[in-house]
Amino acid sequence: MTFIYLDNNATTRPASEVVEAVALYLREHWGNPSSAHSLGRVPEAALVRARSQVSALLGCEPAELVFSSGATEAITHVFKGVFEAFPAKRHFIVSAIEHSAVQAQVAWLRRQGAEVSILPVDALGMVKLDVLEPMLRSDTALVSVMLANNETGVIQPIADIARIAKAAGALVHTDAVQAVGKLPIDLKPLGVDLATISGHKFHGPKGVGALFIRRGLRLKPLILGGHQERDRRGGTENLPGIVGMGVAAELAQAHLADMPRIASLRDRLEDGLRQSVSNIVIHGFGAPRVPNTSFVSFPGLEGEALLLKLDGQGICVSTGSACTTGQKEPSHVLWAMGVPLDVARGTLRLSLSRESLDAEIDRALAVIPDVAQELARIPPMGR
Ligand code: PLP
Repeated sequence: MTFIYLDNNATTRPASEVVEAVALYLREHWGNPSSAHSLGRVPEAALVRARSQVSALLGCEPAELVFSSGATEAITHVFKGVFEAFPAKRHFIVSAIEHSAVQAQVAWLRRQGAEVSILPVDALGMVKLDVLEPMLRSDTALVSVMLANNETGVIQPIADIARIAKAAGALVHTDAVQAVGKLPIDLKPLGVDLATISGHKFHGPKGVGALFIRRGLRLKPLILGGHQERDRRGGTENLPGIVGMGVAAELAQAHLADMPRIASLRDRLEDGLRQSVSNIVIHGFGAPRVPNTSFVSFPGLEGEALLLKLDGQGICVSTGSACTTGQKEPSHVLWAMGVPLDVARGTLRLSLSRESLDAEIDRALAVIPDVAQELARIPPMGR
């Protein structure tokens, strides 16, 4: 069966150029970039090139990037690093809709005795800016708000957040994982001190990511060991992964031009669903959103049941954040937006990519309404 992949916020297919580059650095240029002999030279140059490719995509300096094993590691580095660097500041602010990688850090901070305030969102899933200013304190170390939400795709006003937080003397981190490759990103004017990204969300390899640390800000390494990454992350670099992410970054920049086409496919999908399923709710509709994401509720139905039926028809979707699939609790993002439980339970995330085709949207529009009607006919106990 050929699959229609509408789960690109969970992961994306690595681009063929990425696969080739990864294979080349596994097969031929397998030397250690830190080696002083000849076999280290090509890998060392590749590391430099990848750093400049990723920095070009993000609008920062190459030296401001630390490669990591992914966004979860980079996010952990942000929180543990800031906590250690500023012992007199024991207050943190994060939004209510952050990924579990950030939520885990909130739990860790609280175990250390730090105070964490949760910045609420409105019904569209946008953080409430007016609440931020009164929340800030002289001992606020960090404000962390994601650039685009992984479930709704709603883009957060990071430049405004950074301006307000910095005026109060706090540092600002943005989890930019779901924005990379979907929006142009220019970290300098955005005004953040720290940002985190992940290779596999923009057609790069899994298990590789990067942390942006603004020039002048010093955080202790999270992973101690060798002197790699200018003493900011110990351990031999995952060179094939980093090279692959560099290639993916260059492709992502070039393919930003495809985003209007993706937005129109997503809009056609939403329009079509609205026409054929009477009571659907599209979360974040009307707010600025990344072009590829649609978070749709089918009130009264179970997201899990919809997902399984669609999988049977060769359509891959998600019920929310991939990391919470299997967990029965409805999305914390919808909860924060005030969406009623019976609506939240029946939610699917449909996320497109630059590989998505018109014909795939046609097929999704032919199948999803039928599946929803079929499930709606089954009495709730039998679904
Ligand atoms: N932050 C967001 C918004 C994400 O969507 C994800 C992945 O699902 C992560 C962080 C974690 O990224 P990684 O898989 O690189 O650890």
